[in-house]
Amino acid sequence: MADSILIINAGSSSLKFSLYQDNDGNTFTSVASGLLEGIGTKPYLKIVDQHKKVLIEKNWEDPKLAQLDARDTLCGETLEWIFNYSKKDPIVAVGHRVVHGGSKYVNPVLIDEVVYQDLEALTPFVPLHQPASLSPMRVMLHNNPGIPQIACFDTAFHATMPDKAKRFALPRRYFDKGVRRYGFHGLSYQYIVHYLKQTDHVLASGKTIIAHLGNGASVSAVYQGKCVDTSMSFTPLDGLVMGTRTGHIDAALILYMLNEEKMSPDEIETLIWKKSGLLGVSEVSSDMRDVEAEIANNGPKAEFCQQALELFKYALVGEIGRLAAGMGGIDGLIFTAGIGENARELRSEICKSLSWLGIKIDEEANRSKKELISMPNSTVIVKTIPTNEESVMLREVHDLIN
Ligand code: ADP
Repeated sequence: MADSILIINAGSSSLKFSLYQDNDGNTFTSVASGLLEGIGTKPYLKIVDQHKKVLIEKNWEDPKLAQLDARDTLCGETLEWIFNYSKKDPIVAVGHRVVHGGSKYVNPVLIDEVVYQDLEALTPFVPLHQPASLSPMRVMLHNNPGIPQIACFDTAFHATMPDKAKRFALPRRYFDKGVRRYGFHGLSYQYIVHYLKQTDHVLASGKTIIAHLGNGASVSAVYQGKCVDTSMSFTPLDGLVMGTRTGHIDAALILYMLNEEKMSPDEIETLIWKKSGLLGVSEVSSDMRDVEAEIANNGPKAEFCQQALELFKYALVGEIGRLAAGMGGIDGLIFTAGIGENARELRSEICKSLSWLGIKIDEEANRSKKELISMPNSTVIVKTIPTNEESVMLREVHDLIN
């Protein structure tokens, strides 16, 4: 019999989770993982063991369960299945990835009713994200009240940003109400910083920019392991061009959409979060692989895809330039997440566009998926490092319950 820890990563329409067995209080083995997807449309659950053997696959046919408000029921059934599966190696704690911890939560925290209420109160800040994290918490507080639940925050890493990076130039009262830059993807940044501390003393103690480029994308400026600025701000919409999000746009555009285009707030929300970015410009896909494939195959939308890709790169180079200027130059640049880890051609082009910073890319190392992808005479060390948010959460949960 061993202790197990369940790690949950809830998205707006999905619930990803991994079950880990505690080997010796220091190392963990992933014994099962699963995905509940299609919440609000066509719910589907699949759980596999560590050998990828399917443990359960399930569709819910009841149309009532295809509604978004059935999220708690679906989460409840899924969690019940996992708790039963792990009866022999009981689940002693559950870690939740929480997008927003506000100004108050800058460390992982044990969830109780008070914390839950605090996190619920942040929903207006991130209405598409926070309800997803709250659902499995709420279900567990009700069904398994004796099991410690720990919230791990994507905002926490950025708490060290100085006032000049956090504050918008709005009247002071808004800052006091929590209207400020928070930054997101913190668990990924924490992993990279932890990895650098173990493997690269120069970058761990120097000025490093980390580019987390996934469906959501952001860049952060890190000095001596602490965040000093980041591209996402009040919400995860700001900064870079993303799969379906606009990234940085003129705030007054929203007024134009309201007043001149006569769009409702809901329509604008859908437009800027779900229909823009790579998808909106390419008219092909939010997925970088599809955009690149359309260009490579010279498909009917190749020109749009090329424009989308140019926008993505231009925003990224610009934001890296802004962060580098803010730090007075950089020692390192790290690429991570789906696009950062895999899109070699894009990495190469970004590095070439940043040659004015002294970056010299080693094309061969970049092509052959090496960690170090800059030349020995590059003034900036460039690396590709796969991220691992779950390992950060696992460590945080384990440390907190012990
Ligand atoms: P999420 O933000 O959902 O966690 P990921 O970190 O998994 O996203 O990144 C997803 C993105 O990574 C998608 O745009 C996908 O196209 C891109 N990606 C994955 N593999 C490649 C590849 N080989 N080349 C280019 N892009 C890739």
